[in-house]
Amino acid sequence: MSASHQAPRGTFDILPEEATARARIEAAAAELAARYGYGRIETPIFEDTELFVRGVGTSTDIVRKEMFSFEDLGGRPLTLRPEGTAPIARAYLEHGMHRLPQPVKLWYLGPFFRHERPQAGRYRQFTQVGAEAIGSGDPLVDAEMILLLDELLRALGVAELRLRLSSLGSPAGRRAYREELLAYLRAHASELAPDVRARMEENPLRAFDSKDPGTREVMAGAPKILERLEGEDAEHFAAVRRLLEQAGIAYELDPTLVRGLDYYTRTVFAFECERLGAQSEVGGGGRYDALVEQLGGPPTPACGWAAGIERILLATGERREPHAAAIDVFVAAAEGRREGALALVTELRRAGLSADLDLAGRGLRGQMRQADRLGARRAVILGADGGATVRDMATGEQRQVDPASVLEAVAG
Ligand code: ATP
Ligand code: MG
Repeated sequence: MSASHQAPRGTFDILPEEATARARIEAAAAELAARYGYGRIETPIFEDTELFVRGVGTSTDIVRKEMFSFEDLGGRPLTLRPEGTAPIARAYLEHGMHRLPQPVKLWYLGPFFRHERPQAGRYRQFTQVGAEAIGSGDPLVDAEMILLLDELLRALGVAELRLRLSSLGSPAGRRAYREELLAYLRAHASELAPDVRARMEENPLRAFDSKDPGTREVMAGAPKILERLEGEDAEHFAAVRRLLEQAGIAYELDPTLVRGLDYYTRTVFAFECERLGAQSEVGGGGRYDALVEQLGGPPTPACGWAAGIERILLATGERREPHAAAIDVFVAAAEGRREGALALVTELRRAGLSADLDLAGRGLRGQMRQADRLGARRAVILGADGGATVRDMATGEQRQVDPASVLEAVAG
């Protein structure tokens, strides 16, 4: 049979045997977030397009070419959320969270959407887990954020992790460096990829993010922001580094690290897993001290990260496992006892046992095969004579029980 419909390009179904590994990630994230003092937030799947244009930035790949944007029936421009930080900053302002004790610490997990060329580890609908701490510029926040993501990835068994770390300075501190870099880029304009050239005036730092070989060669000789950090920016970064060292977190300084969003300031970081090949970044983030103000709020420093669940699954290699653990009891019924089978299964389920029955009109022998396939520990056979038999599926041992007290017989 050939299916006439397929899931849209870059999307995938999550089948029951893949759900267990995902549920485990969600449970680990929830447990860890609670331990670190982060509360869960869920924002809508779509937002006003303008939120992402302003919040993510017009020089980013996301806004330039990756957004699933549409108009609703009232002509309002909307976009399927490509990332979580701008929506959470919006929610922070909308709900007056700037009046709460700061920082406000939030985490999330859910689907995100980007119109990218699909490949291993890169999809059009994918799942991110992320955390944000809004309302403090303290380097302790940056360190706590990195510790949280580090612990999550380790708890999930992501091996061969590498932490890249850098600082972009503050917008004010970055101004002189920006001019210096821009002058360098202009001098090498003919060697740069066209898309880098097109946006270098708007955001010259993004040239470091290019995968084009010619551009990379030029950028190897470019002035580096880490060599130009000054004053409070330099102190802030030094403090973050000290805190990571104190916590025993190994990192590599990488002055070419530029994250995909325009709003980053000061600390930026990325966790990579060698095993993943081209899409090696499992998660990353940084400080975004200008975003909340950019969205119309008061000046509010903040820091956060996001990690891709599909990349975590690829990195740990665990994707498919049986969707259900072995069940406690399978109730098999002779013809004429099938309604009684549902009543009994319901009684067992209400008592907290996992119980199942035949729903496909199988004969008794077929039902016992089904009990076997489901890995049932015991079967209850409701016979045509009105009796009930409990069978231990491992040993094959059987005993007659009182049909009125099957629950007691199998509960032990
Ligand atoms: P990349 O450089 O791989 O495109 P990015 O800088 O766009 O990553 P972020 O916006 O920081 O990524 O998103 C955080 C995490 O979300 C990434 O580290 C990655 O694990 C995951 N991610 C991003 N885009 C996708 C995608 N299209 N499909 C699957 N996972 C993704
Ligand atoms: Mg990207």
